[in-house]
Amino acid sequence: MKIIKDIQELKQELKLTSESIGFVPTMGALHEGHISLIKQARDENELVVVSIFVNPTQFLQGEDFSSYPSKDLADTKICELAKVDILFMPDTNTIYKKDELSVKAPQKRSYILEGFGRPGHFDGVLQIVLKLFNIVRPTNAYFGKKDAQQLSLIKQMVSDLFMDINIIECEIIRDDDGLALSSRNTYLGSDEKKLALNIVKSLRVATQEVMTGTQDIEKIKKSMEIVLKDMDIEYIEILSRDFKKLENIELKNSIILVAIRVGTTRLIDNIWI
Ligand code: AMP
Repeated sequence: MKIIKDIQELKQELKLTSESIGFVPTMGALHEGHISLIKQARDENELVVVSIFVNPTQFLQGEDFSSYPSKDLADTKICELAKVDILFMPDTNTIYKKDELSVKAPQKRSYILEGFGRPGHFDGVLQIVLKLFNIVRPTNAYFGKKDAQQLSLIKQMVSDLFMDINIIECEIIRDDDGLALSSRNTYLGSDEKKLALNIVKSLRVATQEVMTGTQDIEKIKKSMEIVLKDMDIEYIEILSRDFKKLENIELKNSIILVAIRVGTTRLIDNIWI
């Protein structure tokens, strides 16, 4: 595995290949969720590139940018074991210059849910993903359904900007208790982890209701609120898979999304119905 920090060096390396490039962008502190994306990329492409870059422009003032978990050594080992060909780990000043052109996420879809509490977050996400796509020029790029709104906006960017990249949607990987894996789970103490499991419980209750024929979105949201009644809920929402309002649950076209805070840790999860 080659570890590359320099953009020109990476471009030079990739210029030599006529093979399909599978790309997995991450912010590091890799866990089984990331590994599942890398495995899928490995299965479906000749060349696999993983990037690790904690992107400053997607964090708001006061968020955990400076304390975001960093595990470069362990991450390198994980990538090696997963047979990654190139690990791209640029520095911030390699990626960003002063007073540069910036991408604007579409208003309606990016200022709800994650973007409501974190205005500008998706501008930063799209800015870095666009830069990384331009550097790596992947055939296939792999993203987790865990960040469903991010995934949807990246798909829109690729479509709106006529980019020739396949966006591959990957399933959410959970621990044995059902908690969706996240680099931020390391912030949780054991009592907080127990509380965090209510997020999974609420999604299970919602799924159960749908399975037994409930289509009424408000009713499902109420049942979830009951499960999460003592928790600091940021949002509970049920939308179509392209993030539009729905009258009722539509099978194979709905996503149930939740964001809660446990202590100082913000957790998101969702289920695709
Ligand atoms: P991050 O390092 O948090 O920016 O995540 C990098 C990629 O891994 C994103 O596409 C995430 O959606 C994906 N990812 C994070 N957690 C999980 C998970 N538990 N299951 C599947 N994909 C995940």
